[in-house]
Amino acid sequence: MLVDQFGRTIDYVRISVTDKCDLRCTYCIPEGFRDFEVPQNWLTFDEIALIARNFTELGVKRFRLTGGEPLLRKDLPQLVEIIKKIPGVEDLSMTTNATQLSKHAVALRNAGLDRLNISLDGLSTSVIKEITGLNCFNKVYDGIMAAKDAGFEQIKINMVPMLNINDNQIEPMIQFCIDNDFILRMIEVMPMGHTGQQTQGKNLSDFLRQIYHKYDLIESTEVRGGGPARYWKSKDGKFTLGLITPISQHFCETCNRVRLSVDGTLFMCLGQNDDYALRDLIRSPDCTDEAIKSAIYEAINLKPKKHEFIEDDTKITRFMSMTGG
Ligand code: SAM
Repeated sequence: MLVDQFGRTIDYVRISVTDKCDLRCTYCIPEGFRDFEVPQNWLTFDEIALIARNFTELGVKRFRLTGGEPLLRKDLPQLVEIIKKIPGVEDLSMTTNATQLSKHAVALRNAGLDRLNISLDGLSTSVIKEITGLNCFNKVYDGIMAAKDAGFEQIKINMVPMLNINDNQIEPMIQFCIDNDFILRMIEVMPMGHTGQQTQGKNLSDFLRQIYHKYDLIESTEVRGGGPARYWKSKDGKFTLGLITPISQHFCETCNRVRLSVDGTLFMCLGQNDDYALRDLIRSPDCTDEAIKSAIYEAINLKPKKHEFIEDDTKITRFMSMTGG
């Protein structure tokens, strides 16, 4: 078992398969940004599997593929298949912007992907263009429907509500999720990179108080997921809401995860700079499983107690896409 110095068990690893993305969401990758990791530094699928297997042998049960946009990485269903075959993997999920999903949904499902989170910040084509920099709503919508048709259940729709940008999209998004049996997950903006730092997100704890009675919500523990969201369900069972509130109500004391970036660096916390580079170790000719496990233990020891998004909101200069959201 992996237990950090604050007694938290680490059983969840998020794997970034690329730091590239086809969108330029205003709170994430800045327009014109080109400084992406070079391909020779990307972990290969075999290297990712080697690290994942060592994590499972230390008690990790859940993995999520993310990025950047994970579906920009060629042959991703192959990686899904490889990870799913590792003994001890109980849950493999992916977070995607869905622009490429209509092409890949069936292959991902057949490869064994268990769950999908899809990012969508509104239902208006112009709002989506304004946020993502691309006229991509129809492609994303088709991708979401393709995932539903491919048989993915409990699809979660990630929305980042921003003041005066897309907060008028919240009601239509709730209705869209009710109509399609999706779970709406709202995320507070984190001050990551200058993009995140310049964005004014919505306080979701206040928002919950505002809509609690309107939708007759009760707290729910039914939803599957290894992450930090807390869930509520309407009493009629039709609407499920998940909230991720790193700013208004942080959840660091229950943090159970670390992130592996595309170049093989383990990040211990989104809101701190502690990291541990694994790539050189796993590429050294005499690398053993024992050495990898001992490096993982050392890394977990670096996991900080909490983020400092509020105390020091300019500390994190990397964008979310660099760590793997
Ligand atoms: N490209 C994929 C996608 O769009 O879902 C996966 C990576 S993306 C970085 C993962 C999630 O992080 C998305 O839901 C995105 O909205 C969210 N995100 C990015 N920057 C953020 C920030 N500064 N604060 C909060 N959420 C952020």
